[in-house]
Amino acid sequence: MRVLAAGAAPVNPPPDLAALHAQAFPMLPRALIERAAPYGEEMSAEPGRVLLNSGDREAAFYIVLQGYAEVLEDWGGGAMRSLLVHRDSEFTGSLDLFTDRPNAVTVRANTATRLLRLSRAALEALILAERPLAEIILRAFMLRRIGYLRRRPYGGAILRSVTRGAQEDPVMDLAVIGGGPAGLAAAAYAASEGLQTLLVGGSLSCGDAPGLDMLKGFPGTITGLCEGPLLRRAEDQSKRFGAHVLPLRTVSRFDGACYPYRVWLDDGRLVEARSLIVATGMQEGDSDGVTVQANTAWLDGWLDTDDQGCIHTGRAAAGSMQARDYESSQPGVFAVGAARAGSVKHVLASIAEGAAAVRVVHRFLDASAH
Ligand SMILES: Cc1cc2nc3c(=O)[nH]c(=O)nc-3n(C[C@H](O)[C@H](O)[C@H](O)COP(=O)(O)OP(=O)(O)OC[C@H]3O[C@@H](n4cnc5c(N)ncnc54)[C@H](O)[C@@H]3O)c2cc1C
Repeated sequence: MRVLAAGAAPVNPPPDLAALHAQAFPMLPRALIERAAPYGEEMSAEPGRVLLNSGDREAAFYIVLQGYAEVLEDWGGGAMRSLLVHRDSEFTGSLDLFTDRPNAVTVRANTATRLLRLSRAALEALILAERPLAEIILRAFMLRRIGYLRRRPYGGAILRSVTRGAQEDPVMDLAVIGGGPAGLAAAAYAASEGLQTLLVGGSLSCGDAPGLDMLKGFPGTITGLCEGPLLRRAEDQSKRFGAHVLPLRTVSRFDGACYPYRVWLDDGRLVEARSLIVATGMQEGDSDGVTVQANTAWLDGWLDTDDQGCIHTGRAAAGSMQARDYESSQPGVFAVGAARAGSVKHVLASIAEGAAAVRVVHRFLDASAH
């Protein structure tokens, strides 16, 4: 437990916006661009050439080697609004690159521009193999996502409405259980897309969580991504966009026999939700400290898991030949991050899974509404 000494700095000092902006749109050092080069193809683009089209599913990651790449937002009816221009050594992209979402923006060359182009698969390979580059790119993507959310009108629904008729619906569209990297990413995406979202376990990873302390002490840890203030900002953004956050609460029981699903909190309260994302991570065993178990005992055997309690998803989930990606043996209950069997136990992979799973939740909710 972290205890602040008398006179210590407040837990939430005001953010240094200039520094955050520089980290959201950093210039890559020459040496790191050289590390990235084998993963991509160098290309030239004439002025006006479109590199990425808003709405298309084909996406790529670009590092500007020389010239200017402009990012534009589609305002409908053919109107475009310029958001920013990437210059030499900067890079395009956002967390959406790790999901199957269509491109949110258009990117085009402003002048004769030289670029390094990486496919989605190549970017994933780079992130897993090149840690210094991964730190810079993933931190920038997270900060860009947070900035993007801030620009949207409060509660703006992209895909679904948060209210049904005149009344607020007491049943949540989605309950996200666990406030680590995977759960925070899921809650931020879901709330920004208009799903009525509850995050249980917010703040747990923002300073006091044992897992975070362990992570901070681990050699080579991606501290920039895991540090409390960034996660707390992600949590704050989830709240601003309508997510209900229950900090420092845990879920103690799940009932899969009824629909909407029911989960009970450790203070006895009951939550009803049409879908669930389980992002409760793993922890060392109580008795020996060596074995590692997923934090899924509260699911009480309702989901198919492996020996460590990690939740089987997709085709690996028992009796679920039709299961969607991230979907467990229970329709509408999804698992992401370390608690998911077969996941890459990595902060970056957890963030990507949290973001990607929301897309699948939309599909489930849309299908079950008909
Ligand atoms: C010692 C150690 C070192 C590591 N080093 C690295 C590294 O260098 N780089 C790297 O990328 N990864 C590293 N990892 C792995 C990384 O920590 C995980 O892959 C990542 O944190 C998983 O994210 P997550 O959101 O799935 O789970 P977590 O980060 O574990 O978050 C789960 C959250 O859910 C909460 N929770 C648990 N049970 C409940 C419940 N019943 N109700 C509500 N909330 C609950 C937890 O308190 C926690 O806040 C390390 C892990 C360990 C243990």
